[in-house]
Amino acid sequence: MHLQPSGRPVAEILEDVRQGERISAGDAHTLLEAGDLLELGLAAHQVRDRLNDPAVATYNIDRNINYTNVCVYKCRFCAFYRQPGDPEGYVLPFEEIGRKIEETLALNGTGILLQGGVHPDLPLSFYEDLLGYIRENYPAVHLHAFSPPEVRFVAKKERMSFFEVIARLKKAGLQSIPGGGAELLSDGVRKEVLAYTKVSADEWIEVMRQAHANGLRTSATMMYGMGEPLTARIEHLQRVRELQDETGGFTAFISWTFQHDHTDMEDVPETYAHEYLKTLAVSRLFLDNIQHLQTSWVTQGKKIGQLGLMFGADDMGSIMIEENVVSAAGTSYRMSQDEMEHLIAAAGLSPRQRTNLYERLVTREETLELAERYRCALTPQNQDLASPLPIVG
Ligand code: SF4
Repeated sequence: MHLQPSGRPVAEILEDVRQGERISAGDAHTLLEAGDLLELGLAAHQVRDRLNDPAVATYNIDRNINYTNVCVYKCRFCAFYRQPGDPEGYVLPFEEIGRKIEETLALNGTGILLQGGVHPDLPLSFYEDLLGYIRENYPAVHLHAFSPPEVRFVAKKERMSFFEVIARLKKAGLQSIPGGGAELLSDGVRKEVLAYTKVSADEWIEVMRQAHANGLRTSATMMYGMGEPLTARIEHLQRVRELQDETGGFTAFISWTFQHDHTDMEDVPETYAHEYLKTLAVSRLFLDNIQHLQTSWVTQGKKIGQLGLMFGADDMGSIMIEENVVSAAGTSYRMSQDEMEHLIAAAGLSPRQRTNLYERLVTREETLELAERYRCALTPQNQDLASPLPIVG
């Protein structure tokens, strides 16, 4: 994998992008290192408009439910986990998870993201029971759950393959897998920030490959700004693009900067908006095979999040009814659906609420109808009410 700068002039690389040609990892490095922010943003915006409706920006309404904060790992960048035996450790009762889903549906939500902690004592049957409980009581809600570190841990614990574990979870109701735990898919960095032991770069890729082989879509994520060399970001992007070439299973790419408060890495200098927007733009230029890119208002704040829509992103992500991991590291932003729509409209774009896999895009007028269908389908008997709405541009 050649990760060093290609040495080609920035203008030549951007011209290739405009002609619809794929750029190399070395080209991406050159752009990150030597590209002008506004030139990169303009080129990334053109690519965004080529792959998505230029007049529209999307968002979704879902909720992050951290079913446990107990974790066997001690990632240095994490302020969320509690070690096994810690009095502040918890595993949420299913009924409490049910209450959170009810609240999400009441706010026009369509899905939930379930993620731990990697709890050492929870067997595969716990995850199956949890999915089964939700599927039975809320059959329409989209279940986006269990990132690669959780899948890997359960596979090791149960002595099963990644494919087998994912097949069992899918049978229990899992519909897609979040890209959490990727951080930077570069083992040199992973060893330093202690994310290597929970899942190596190869293992993260392999879990996603097996999810795609199971017919599940997944997202890809990247967290950077931990003092790593630029080659680590390039390696990450290259690995994601390669797997997407192979499987086509990634729906979206979501990147954000490391938030350091209350972590073991508080001395790492903060990554500011210039670098965030530049990395977003280069990601858009390099990942020519992933349709959707999210802007991270959760870590960058609403204003830079909005600006991300001009630097390659076509989606604002979730309104975040609940978020525990980034807020544990000292960054906490909240947004209502009204504010989300205002933010997008103020950027000159039409807001559309989307479902988790981007299958349905609805206007605000149609939001209530969408939500009603998800709320109505509270029992298996009326599940057919959650039939698809027409897709609008
Ligand atoms: S990032 Fe995830 S795996 Fe790492 S310590 Fe935190 S909860 Fe555990």
